[in-house]
Amino acid sequence: MTAQKELERASAGRADELFRRHQHEIYCKTDVLFARLMLFQWVVGIVAALVVSPLTWSGQSSQIHIHVWAMIFLGGLITLFPVWLTRVWPGAVGTRYVIAVAQMLMSSLLISVSGGRIETHFHIFGSLVILSFYRDWRVLIPATIVVGLDHFLRGIYWPYSVYGVLSASPWRSIEHSAWVIFEDVFLVISCLRSITEMCSIANRTAALEASEQNFRQIFEEAPIGMAVVGLDERFRQANAAFCQMVDYSQEELITRTPLDITDPEDVAPHRQWAQEMLSSNGSNRVEKRYRRKGGEVVWSTRSGCIIRDGVGEPRHFLIMVEDISERKRAEAALREAKEEADRANCAKSEFLSRMSHELRTPLNAILGFGQLLEGESPTESQSDAISHILGAGRHLLELINEVLDISGIEAGRLQLSVEPVSVAEAIRQAVDLMRPLAVERAIEICLPLRIDDRLHVLADRQRLRQVLLNLLTNGMKYTRVGGMVRVSVDERNWEKIRLIVSDTGVGIPTEKFSRLFTPFDRLGAEYSNVQGTGLGLALCRRLMEAMKGCIAVESTPGRGSSFSIELPRAPLPIESLTVHEPAIMGRLSESVGPEKRTILCIEDNPSSLTLIRRILAKRPAIELLTTVQGSIGLELARQQRPDLILLDLHLPDLPGWEILAQLQACHETRSIPVIVISADATARQIDRLLSAGARAYLTKPIDVAEFSKVMGETLNSVKEGVAA
Ligand code: ADP
Repeated sequence: MTAQKELERASAGRADELFRRHQHEIYCKTDVLFARLMLFQWVVGIVAALVVSPLTWSGQSSQIHIHVWAMIFLGGLITLFPVWLTRVWPGAVGTRYVIAVAQMLMSSLLISVSGGRIETHFHIFGSLVILSFYRDWRVLIPATIVVGLDHFLRGIYWPYSVYGVLSASPWRSIEHSAWVIFEDVFLVISCLRSITEMCSIANRTAALEASEQNFRQIFEEAPIGMAVVGLDERFRQANAAFCQMVDYSQEELITRTPLDITDPEDVAPHRQWAQEMLSSNGSNRVEKRYRRKGGEVVWSTRSGCIIRDGVGEPRHFLIMVEDISERKRAEAALREAKEEADRANCAKSEFLSRMSHELRTPLNAILGFGQLLEGESPTESQSDAISHILGAGRHLLELINEVLDISGIEAGRLQLSVEPVSVAEAIRQAVDLMRPLAVERAIEICLPLRIDDRLHVLADRQRLRQVLLNLLTNGMKYTRVGGMVRVSVDERNWEKIRLIVSDTGVGIPTEKFSRLFTPFDRLGAEYSNVQGTGLGLALCRRLMEAMKGCIAVESTPGRGSSFSIELPRAPLPIESLTVHEPAIMGRLSESVGPEKRTILCIEDNPSSLTLIRRILAKRPAIELLTTVQGSIGLELARQQRPDLILLDLHLPDLPGWEILAQLQACHETRSIPVIVISADATARQIDRLLSAGARAYLTKPIDVAEFSKVMGETLNSVKEGVAA
């Protein structure tokens, strides 16, 4: 049997029990009512008999009227027996039936004593109504039979006593009985209705009890802590799990408030959560700390909601509490372990980085003197030894550089200058550098027929070139002499641009893909004569991720591999200039004026340089000096004393902040305003450069309108300064 059916059966049984109990209560109460009524009407009957006809006369002599004796003895018999029954068998069916018969007999006696007065007949009707208080229509049957028989018999043999006349037609008795039955019909209907109502009340009460019992059981046996808290913030009820969690008994909790057992640090937030629950009309779930009786802290997740009454008024809070102390402890064993691991990782990267630096110095000597010896006409065997020294030295240098790069990235020291980079230019530069190797290995490099010059990606130019060089070098290293390396561009995606380097080399088996990009794993190439460190691809992946791009591979062993890198597409800086050009030029002319000005631009990004050139091209009064090297920029600044310096922070030889520091340190250049143009938009960097003396800081990609405005204002302020 399903749980639901069992519940329904139990509920039906309980409803039946409730109904019977209620019915028995009604029977007993009505028995008591009748006992009192009967005693009362007996006394009233005796008094009435004494008042109406105390004596009966026979000539001069009189004696007590028969009615008085009848009322005393017959009335007593009719009254006392049922009254006694109500004492010994209250609520019993026999008691009710005897009462019904006795009450009707009393009506007859009263009618008879009153000499058949029609008004006294109302006693019958009243009695029937009171009998219906039993809500047991069956008691009306003996009552009606007694009334009917009485009227018939007395109507025939003693009509005076029932109708107050000496002779009465039998139809009169029939009519009297008919009126009694007429009343009975409505009383029966009323009894049946009452029974139906009592049944439904019993059913509802049983269902309510069952659901309450169910809730109580769930509440008591729930594996999580549950408690009911009044609006006065006192505990009303708490289940066993909650008591166990906080180590207080139910009785102890009822004299406390949740605040009494809340950790002092969570008291203020607790008040706020309770307020939030009341005002937001809903529930909330928070993490809070309770204090056990012994003072130990219990971490918990506490969900709470408001219980409302039928009209929506808040009655109390229901809270459900789950002990998460174990989890919290585990999270803390974990956090520490992670911090420890991070510390160890940082220490490792730091160590590698320092080691690599230290190794570079002796390597400088090895490579330097090796090359010197190479030029001093060594013998054949010496030359062979020197080429070994140089080969090993270069390999070591490559290894050191890559270790330095990877450890730098892992230690969080990678500084990127992410800006729009021309795809065509990046490919061209990388391929140009690879041509000598391609010639040496007789490998053909295939480029797309035409790469759209307007295609730009968001990347660090130098790092992008490094990735491309790595992929091209691998393509050539792992391709047989006479093979082919192809570079292609996929620009179909509107958000990203993909650059693909594919080769016709040995390929990589699919099962080794998962090992690619793992530092020092050369997938078996260490047993071949191909030189390598196993760090190139690992570095490429880290660089690509740092530039918000990705790297992927496809390969067929024996046929070749294809490495693709994907980077976000960048808007073409020059395009925004074309749109705003007339307005910008106007603004620049207004603010700068016609006199001759010199601007020095220290910038290594060709796109940015082109843009700046375009902006200034229509201002013949402005002479633009450009350089991609920081050291040359410093020299030009000293010699030419330009009116303004535009400074990129990410330059091949010197970092921008150092150039700024040197400009500020030199009395000849200190007064020249410097506008920094950088891809680094972090507040820390901006503050650093502005407090180091930069006049303004603009972020890449350059907003042409803002750039023109700031440049115009700066040049203008220089003019005013000179005039003053
Ligand atoms: P390595 O210095 O060994 O070239 P990489 O990290 O660049 O290190 O590459 C890891 C390994 O992946 C290489 O050792 C080689 O086995 C394999 N690999 C990389 N590129 C190619 C390619 N184009 N064709 C075949 N194998 C490649």
